[in-house]
Amino acid sequence: MLRIRELRKSFGAHEVLKDISLEVHAGEVVSIIGASGSGKSTFLRCINVMEMPDGGLLDFEDAHFDFAPGARGRPTPAQLRALRARIGMVFQSYNLWPHMSVLENVIEAPMRVKGVPRAEAVALAEGLLERIGLADKRGAYPSRLSGGQQQRVAIVRALAMKPRLMLFDEVTSALDPELVGEVLALMASLAKEGMTMLLVTHEIGFAREVSTRTVFFDQGRIAEDGPPREVLYRPASERLQQFLKRVL
Ligand code: ADP
Ligand code: MG
Repeated sequence: MLRIRELRKSFGAHEVLKDISLEVHAGEVVSIIGASGSGKSTFLRCINVMEMPDGGLLDFEDAHFDFAPGARGRPTPAQLRALRARIGMVFQSYNLWPHMSVLENVIEAPMRVKGVPRAEAVALAEGLLERIGLADKRGAYPSRLSGGQQQRVAIVRALAMKPRLMLFDEVTSALDPELVGEVLALMASLAKEGMTMLLVTHEIGFAREVSTRTVFFDQGRIAEDGPPREVLYRPASERLQQFLKRVL
């Protein structure tokens, strides 16, 4: 589904992604772990090209991009819109639109980006809100919801676009501990249904249980990549051993 080769990204003189190659097959759930500043968020943002890589190749389903300066394969604005419409992303801070009700938050992108008729978008949104037990909050504004409820709405808002791939960037990090479980449970149920996912997380237990692969980022490189059982329990590198000691 996704093939990334020799992806590079710098901010000024700071080389944040050095040479990242990664393949993700349909149905895989890849957890990404690594110290703060190792480039995890930048990497996710390069996948949906919210951040423009400096070099490397990205193939996502039938889209093929070459980010080398001057390359013919650099994405056009229309190609970027098409790519982003098929990749859902949820961040650490629940980024719901505060001036819109829960329902409006969920129907906005399908209507505006995909031209889905309002009645159809509402029906889809109602089904998704039903699924997360928040159908009765459809008219509420985000500020009236708990952090866990907001984050679950943010996830179904992304799902309303019927994405082929979901990117999750530390979506439980800003939550009170008692609200983490409900968000992880929703992500686990998506994984079980076969959603292809890349998730940056510090929840090592969750990574172990839910992901099919774990990737360890270290200073802008993928230092380890394998089954969670091996990467998390039999880390090959000293640096991953140190990292796991800190987060476990
Ligand atoms: P992680 O998610 O693993 O904590 P990030 O991808 O957020 O790491 O950041 C990696 C490095 O890139 C950090 O040193 C960060 O300060 C830097 N960085 C990220 N985004 C920008 C930006 N827009 N401009 C300048 N530096 C950035
Ligand atoms: Mg980050």
